Amino acid sequence: MAEAKVAEPKFKFKAEVKQLLDILVHSLYTHKEIFLRELISNASDAMDKLRFESNKGTEIIDNDLPLEVNITFNKDKKIVYVSDSGIGMTKDELVKNIGTIAKSGTSDFLKVIAESKEDASNIIGRFGIGFYSVFMVAKEVVIKTKSYKKDEPAMKWTSDGLGSYTIAELDEPIKRGTTIEVHLKDDMDEFLEKYRLESIVKKHSSFIGFPIKVENEVINTISALWREPKSNIKPEQYTEFYKFLTYDQDEPLTTIHRSVDAPIQFTSLLFIPKRNMDMFGYNREDYGLDLYVRRVLIQHQNKDLLPEYLSFVKGVVDSEDLPLNISRETLQENVIFSKISSSVTSQVLSHLQTMAEKEEDKYKEFWREHGRIFKMGYMDYANQEKFSKLLRFNSSGSKDSAEVISLDQYVEKMKKDQKEIYYAVGSSREAVALDPHLEIFKKKGVEVLYLYDPMDEFVMEALRKYKDFDLKSVGQADIKKLNEMENTKDDVEEAVEELSKTDKKHFSSLMKKMKDILGDKVKEVKESDRLSDSPIVLVNPADGMSSTMQRIMNLSGRTVNVPQKIMEVNKNHKLIRNLLKVFKANDKDEYIKDVVEQLYESSILLEGFLNDPHKMVDRVNKLLEDSSDWYTSVRDLK
Ligand code: ADP
Repeated sequence: MAEAKVAEPKFKFKAEVKQLLDILVHSLYTHKEIFLRELISNASDAMDKLRFESNKGTEIIDNDLPLEVNITFNKDKKIVYVSDSGIGMTKDELVKNIGTIAKSGTSDFLKVIAESKEDASNIIGRFGIGFYSVFMVAKEVVIKTKSYKKDEPAMKWTSDGLGSYTIAELDEPIKRGTTIEVHLKDDMDEFLEKYRLESIVKKHSSFIGFPIKVENEVINTISALWREPKSNIKPEQYTEFYKFLTYDQDEPLTTIHRSVDAPIQFTSLLFIPKRNMDMFGYNREDYGLDLYVRRVLIQHQNKDLLPEYLSFVKGVVDSEDLPLNISRETLQENVIFSKISSSVTSQVLSHLQTMAEKEEDKYKEFWREHGRIFKMGYMDYANQEKFSKLLRFNSSGSKDSAEVISLDQYVEKMKKDQKEIYYAVGSSREAVALDPHLEIFKKKGVEVLYLYDPMDEFVMEALRKYKDFDLKSVGQADIKKLNEMENTKDDVEEAVEELSKTDKKHFSSLMKKMKDILGDKVKEVKESDRLSDSPIVLVNPADGMSSTMQRIMNLSGRTVNVPQKIMEVNKNHKLIRNLLKVFKANDKDEYIKDVVEQLYESSILLEGFLNDPHKMVDRVNKLLEDSSDWYTSVRDLK
């Protein structure tokens, strides 16, 4: 029969799709087989959606078709067929769904490829890159599809993946669903072998909840692993399921499998990955647990079953009590759902606590990988106690910057009369150790937690207390109480001569002078009782914001001011003693002004507030010049 060839309308792919196709077509991938995983996953989604519509009572054509995936092939024509009886697509849906990249995962994939030096084939498996991956193996793809909606014509979509596609009405009658015809490239004969297709299905798609047939034989036999009794499941099965669910090639760090009977009945199978999968921080949408109701998938990646700070958890939750036809929009308001959600949250937190107690190294691994996101949990007031117990910090007592302790461990090591838990903020262990605020803590042997992540400070400010102890930054510490504590034995204080009575008066006048010099830049200048090695320190007034907070405010553009602080002066420091001599000789000596301004600016420089370095550099140069004069004269150099 001679077919009347009518030119089919041609459409161009969107730029992003074209870019992806270029990568897929022109690169050599070792993971080509994943195209089948992607097609099966789309087929399964389409059948999930159909079942969902059916549960809602929507009218559906060919309602008696069994929900299954059929994979067949034709060796002579070199075509692999992947068919499903899902919702199918209308003409508009074909254009919208297949011509543009809908899925965030795909654009993330492009970003990662563009930015990483890693070979694309190493990362491709970790992404669900969707339908287009078929062009790794196909020189042409034909989609034949018929929507579940009444009166929609069957459609045909054809493309060679090179930039455009055609769409036309199909001239043969087909049943509801979609068939993808994969016309293989010349060197792809491996996919024309039954055993090869079977092994790909087994490897990547074992847990799909619908039968998958290769040449009419069902390949996947286990589906809802979470429904099996725990005692029947081997560790390998958990790992296999985890890999299927996440595309991770590694095994999970830990597995949580629970069945709850009362007051509500549900099963959860959860995993914490070894690695933070949010590579480069792009995939912020790619999280959430799969929600099932009596084995029927209601929602993929539901974002409300767990709070966001636990979004590294992957897995499924299957409820017995939720209605099958519940709409995604009303889920959040459902009482059963919110009970499940708080129960799942508790399961994760308790599991982490057990891990922290029984598998310390594993917990450290968890903390290293997922700690940053976990810390956001300071907002979860209902679970604050459990959350606080799980926090970890580096501290002055740690042997290096990698060691971490819990707040409980800190409390155990507290001094006899210590009522507060202290922390200091800085960009690194080295930087924090230089903070003059810490001098008195060293002297008294009081441990201080070191906070390197700005988030840590939010956590401390939000918690305020741990058990009976206030959380205090070293700047807010009650110095009087600290001074009442005994010095550590190895603190051999260098004997500094006390100031005479008159010198004490001069020192007071010097401090007044210092305040005059600095003016409004400081709130007050006063004698310090916390310093041993530094001449001065800037401290926050009791009612003031912490330095990190101020820095964050500045960064966010809300203020551009250098915060007003209190300057504390160490009267026993050599520099201050010399300054006092100068002051006594001539209280108007310019040198005093230079030194005081320099001390102030050095401090705010360390705290990250110095706006204009020019003046400071000028002054330093002048002081250096002076000191070079003195140096050469003292050494009697000609
Ligand atoms: P993803 O499946 O991740 O959304 P894909 O690129 O694989 O991305 O597919 C794009 C869209 O095309 C899907 O979201 C879906 O709407 C539609 N689609 C793909 N395959 C099928 C299918 N077999 N049946 C119905 N719709 C499909």
